[in-house]
Amino acid sequence: MELVAGAGGFIGGALVSQLLKEGKEVRAVDVKPFVNWYQHHNEAQNLMLDLKFEQNCRAVTQNVENVWNLAADMGGMGFIENHKADCMLSVLINTNLLLAAKQNKISKYFFSSSACVYPGYKQGDANVIPLKEDDVYPADPEDGYGWEKLFSERMCRHFREDYGIQTRVARYHNVYGPFGTYTGGREKAPAAICRRLIEAKLSGNHEIVIWGDGNQTRSFMYIDDCIRGSLTLMESNYKDPINIGSAEMVTINQLIDIVEEIAGIKVLRKYDLKAPQGVRGRSSDNTLFRSQFGWEPDTKLMVGMEETYRWIYDRVKESRSY
Ligand code: NAD
Repeated sequence: MELVAGAGGFIGGALVSQLLKEGKEVRAVDVKPFVNWYQHHNEAQNLMLDLKFEQNCRAVTQNVENVWNLAADMGGMGFIENHKADCMLSVLINTNLLLAAKQNKISKYFFSSSACVYPGYKQGDANVIPLKEDDVYPADPEDGYGWEKLFSERMCRHFREDYGIQTRVARYHNVYGPFGTYTGGREKAPAAICRRLIEAKLSGNHEIVIWGDGNQTRSFMYIDDCIRGSLTLMESNYKDPINIGSAEMVTINQLIDIVEEIAGIKVLRKYDLKAPQGVRGRSSDNTLFRSQFGWEPDTKLMVGMEETYRWIYDRVKESRSY
């Protein structure tokens, strides 16, 4: 039995889908009401529980072989810059899941960390040198969200060293794709840009607001690569935190160019320089991942964004018809 924590979310939902395809038995857990989960898989055992509480973590890890911790209170820059305490409270999920995993003698434990663990002083320039795993110390992660991830990474390491739990830690770099958050304040740049262009197309008002000056750089990984990378890491013997991300770095303006091409419209870009922007530049150095596993996430943005745009388009169109 595989336990997926955060199964009602974007990456958790995609992981449940893949594990079921592979014929695995899955226990899917999320704090959200089932109706709000992004994907509904009736073949899985679906439970609504708050995993901040130890008794819930103990209950869900019974008779489980592997634990996948994808549960966290998180969102895009607009959310994490304004909800630092909420982000840090996710430490309770990882702590109690690790304790329960120890008690119930699970085989392997996966933790979804983030590129937000990397220090701000390495990301001050849009022409950033891609981040490699060793860059993480001396520590200066994203305040709130990044500190929680870095602390939880270390807790995984110590549970492995002291208690023998086989932990695997992925440092995800911006993941995007269908079946994820695209509205409501927690959405990330790719989904937010798709939604804004779709609204522009449907309303005829082609003016959109961009957070920052649009020259900040990022890399974005398609969800299928994220799931393949996570499964690869979990099956492997690699123990230390490792980047799972794309090395295709673009400016936010270039990402908008791509979505304009998909949408078939041009928009008037208004830059909001006071909006949350995060670091100036960030991309993934995949040297270690490539050397360990012989491949790397490489779905082109044009391909992944097209899928994402179509999925969001259908939802926005449906909501406007009421
Ligand atoms: P998401 O918000 O879509 O999913 C997280 C899920 O966790 C949500 O459904 C939420 O309801 C659930 N959750 C929150 N608190 C819970 C609790 N107390 N008990 C049970 N469930 C709870 O986010 P996602 O994009 O799917 O991210 C999954 C993981 O990957 C998170 O740990 C996130 O920090 C990490 N990550 C994601 C990205 C990305 O770009 N999406 C990048 C880096 C790291």
